[in-house]
Amino acid sequence: MTFHAKFSGYADPALHAAGLYIGGKWQSGSGITVLDPSTGNLLAEVADASIEDAQRAVDAADAAAAGWRATPARQRSEILRRWYQLMTQHAEELATLIVLENGKALADARGEVAYAAEFFRWYAEEATRIPGEFRHTPSGSHNILVDHEPIGIAVLITPWNFPAAMATRKIGPALAAGCTVILKPASETPLTAYAMARLGEEAGVPPGVVNVLTTSNPGGITNAMLADPRVRKLSFTGSTGVGRVLLAEAAKSVVSCSMELGGNAPFIVFDDADLEAALDGAMIAKMRNAGEACTAANRFYVQAGIHDAFVAGLTARMKSLKLGPGYDPETQCGPMITQNAVRKIDRLVSEALAAGARATTGGKPLTENGYFYPPTVLENVPVNASIAREEIFGPVAPVYKFESDDEAIRLANNTEYGLAAYIYSRDLKRAMKVGKRIETGMLGINRGLMSDPAAPFGGVKQSGLGREGGVTGILEFMEPKYFAVDY
Ligand code: NAP
Repeated sequence: MTFHAKFSGYADPALHAAGLYIGGKWQSGSGITVLDPSTGNLLAEVADASIEDAQRAVDAADAAAAGWRATPARQRSEILRRWYQLMTQHAEELATLIVLENGKALADARGEVAYAAEFFRWYAEEATRIPGEFRHTPSGSHNILVDHEPIGIAVLITPWNFPAAMATRKIGPALAAGCTVILKPASETPLTAYAMARLGEEAGVPPGVVNVLTTSNPGGITNAMLADPRVRKLSFTGSTGVGRVLLAEAAKSVVSCSMELGGNAPFIVFDDADLEAALDGAMIAKMRNAGEACTAANRFYVQAGIHDAFVAGLTARMKSLKLGPGYDPETQCGPMITQNAVRKIDRLVSEALAAGARATTGGKPLTENGYFYPPTVLENVPVNASIAREEIFGPVAPVYKFESDDEAIRLANNTEYGLAAYIYSRDLKRAMKVGKRIETGMLGINRGLMSDPAAPFGGVKQSGLGREGGVTGILEFMEPKYFAVDY
């Protein structure tokens, strides 16, 4: 059974299974199956790009590069703006498509489409404000003029957990900067990327400026593209493991890299926190996308005086969530992306339970069809359990008790990651002081959600290199050129 008959327009998976998008042309093919995670049923099949296809995509991006670079910023901006408007107009269909291939709850998918479209609006505005610089040398010898030029062809690789937003967060600034791109979406969720490419065509993106490839050989085609001297940028969002492999590959041709990698966010609740606000924030930070977010709270550190009340409140909220397929409007927690994801969560939870943790709700995978894991709260978790070191990427909240501020900081920093962190306290001075000592790229203070296209998103340590979004995001796709001027 497939869902094709049920959906129409942009929400129809069959429409976006037309094939690779290279040089403004659709090339049909097959080989990559897309499944509905809530049933495991086949949704669609998409084309499987070969190395030759990837080379043609680089040729197409190269053929379009000079024209796009020379297109006035105002015109690039207006195309991005139209793309934003079209995404907004087709928001419900895009959300449905995301739900189908990714499984997330419809409310999460709607939120993602709005967030994703906003990157196009933000970078439509930034396209016309690319900065330059003029200075006098301290010695007075000459003047320093700094221009920013588009870096060149960019390869963009995205994960399955935000099929729309991870693509627009890269395409928006790249196009605003004047670069042409090749997008390789995750194999689990290619349909949204192809749907957005169709909207881009409608918005007036010239042929070759955006190319989209799906492949069962991501390593092979990426290596081939990175070896091509015309490719000057790799922007990757995904796991730290794959990020390391790509950094090594990019080093061979000294390609500029932006890396948005894994996370292991601590969520710290001090005794003086507003309990209800902390619980609201915890539910957002943990359960957006059913925990399948790089910024998801992965470790809840709760001070001894508020610990029991927090665990009781979190348990009640997690227990009340309705689990089901994302397209059921009542669903609050959808399935995981694959059976393997469920197995990983099960392993982490089982190891924690064996080491002395207690599940106050959930704790075992469900056995019905689809890739479901129930919302789970664990207390009394040993601080060195594997669940404290690895990304859970699921609806599991392990809670750890702490006594002092120093202990919370030490525990929070005890990880190779440094993407996001959260602090709840009514004492802003304390929150800021602690926050300054947490090794993280982003910090939510009395907030469970921090993502915003106008803010710099990214991590420190092994969570990545560079920032996406904000005013600096566009500079990831530009090279400063210094003119030494004597006049
Ligand atoms: P992943 O396995 O690293 O895959 C990400 C992308 O890389 C996919 O498109 C994948 O293609 C591709 N890929 C895999 N191996 C490759 C290779 N050797 N060469 C080139 N490309 C390759 O990650 P994921 O499981 O999709 O996503 C979850 C991870 O992403 C988590 O760690 C999460 O924290 C991280 N993430 C980070 C951010 C952030 O902004 N920091 C945001 C979202 C997610 P295939 O699908 O074809 O394998």
